[in-house]
Amino acid sequence: MEVLTSGLISLDEALNTMLGRMTPLQESEILPLPQAQGRITASTVISPMDVPPFDNSAMDGYAIRLADLTSGTALPVAGKAFAGVPFTGEWPAGSCIRIMTGAPIPAGCDAVVMQEQTEQQGDAIRITAEVRPGQNIRRTGEDIRQGNEVLRAGTRLGAAELPLLASLGIASVNVLRPLRVAIFSTGDELQSPGRPLAAGQIYDTNRFAVHLMLNKLGCEVIDLGIIRDDREALRAAFTKADACADVVISSGGVSVGEADYTKEMLEELGEVTFWKLAIKPGKPFAFGRLQNSWFCGLPGNPVSAMLTFYQLVQPLLAKLTGQNEPALPPRQRVRSASMLKKSPGRLDFQRGILQRNAEGKLEVSTTGHQGSHIFSSWHQANCFIVLERERGNVQPGEWVEVEPFNALLEG
Ligand code: AMP
Ligand code: MG
Repeated sequence: MEVLTSGLISLDEALNTMLGRMTPLQESEILPLPQAQGRITASTVISPMDVPPFDNSAMDGYAIRLADLTSGTALPVAGKAFAGVPFTGEWPAGSCIRIMTGAPIPAGCDAVVMQEQTEQQGDAIRITAEVRPGQNIRRTGEDIRQGNEVLRAGTRLGAAELPLLASLGIASVNVLRPLRVAIFSTGDELQSPGRPLAAGQIYDTNRFAVHLMLNKLGCEVIDLGIIRDDREALRAAFTKADACADVVISSGGVSVGEADYTKEMLEELGEVTFWKLAIKPGKPFAFGRLQNSWFCGLPGNPVSAMLTFYQLVQPLLAKLTGQNEPALPPRQRVRSASMLKKSPGRLDFQRGILQRNAEGKLEVSTTGHQGSHIFSSWHQANCFIVLERERGNVQPGEWVEVEPFNALLEG
């Protein structure tokens, strides 16, 4: 593949190049369900049983046989069926069985009549509505059939998937080992929160942001701290990170300033695949390979670091953990309520607020200043306003494309 070290490449080209080079992790382990939250299935899960495992009642009511229905006659109640306590007695002709939701359907039963459609007459009931054969009966295997595929390999296990496995009696699951990701920030100006700032210093935002997002994605994080803008220190950090991780993520130093050594280090210790993207924010994003790991050099500006993590690193991590091809993020066209500044040349991901206006129509407004140092814009926003590469300024009322944030930025 052509090594693209100059010129701006498009986001799609960057994603295709990155993802095309990677093969997912292979190593897996078997974990009990409670420990498997957020992990990715390493193999297909097949259902060992039918769900529901037996025909059962969807209502509190009366189990009846259609042959016993003659208009107007009352049916004496011959017994009871509870969830967990089936009716096992004799069921005489011309009678019904009191049945509760979830109780096994007694043999010979054709339908369940809900309680609200009956009238009590002493020890008998009279049915007050039309009866359809099979009504209110949940059939064996209606949800899942024994032997069917329940989850594909490459599925993230969350609050929908783990209980699904539990409902099948499955107590442990084969999952990929977590990705190991080493992170560090670069910059002589960076200080950790909790310490006083010296002249010219700022607090390190990026490492914290990246760490949190990696936690959210179920990665094992190796945090190498803040690395000074010094070739030796950087070389040591790169080497240490490469030795212990599948992916190395740095921030800062990928631009063309005099203390920007990240790309140089990547060239020296590995290979640069590309490092300039036609997106805004986030033009300087370096991607390449070290001896043992993949390398992503995020831009230093916190908005750009977060954006490139979201748009590029997130799919990369998904690919490495064998997650089924991520569907393209859902986007929709809405009217912009704000004037949006944009100069042609790069695909722009502005932070926006998507909401209903007074007429109940969805529209998007800007969070305001879109500078790549305005980190508070993330907190206000709930979507990206995605402005095409060649587009210029947007006037209020124009149609724009929005991409609602996914769960990465929530909670
Ligand atoms: P750089 O790419 O290293 O030239 O950094 C670009 C801008 O981002 C500079 O204003 C840096 O001070 C700032 N910056 C770099 N790293 C961080 C960080 N970890 N947290 C907050 N700001 C940063
Ligand atoms: Mg720097």
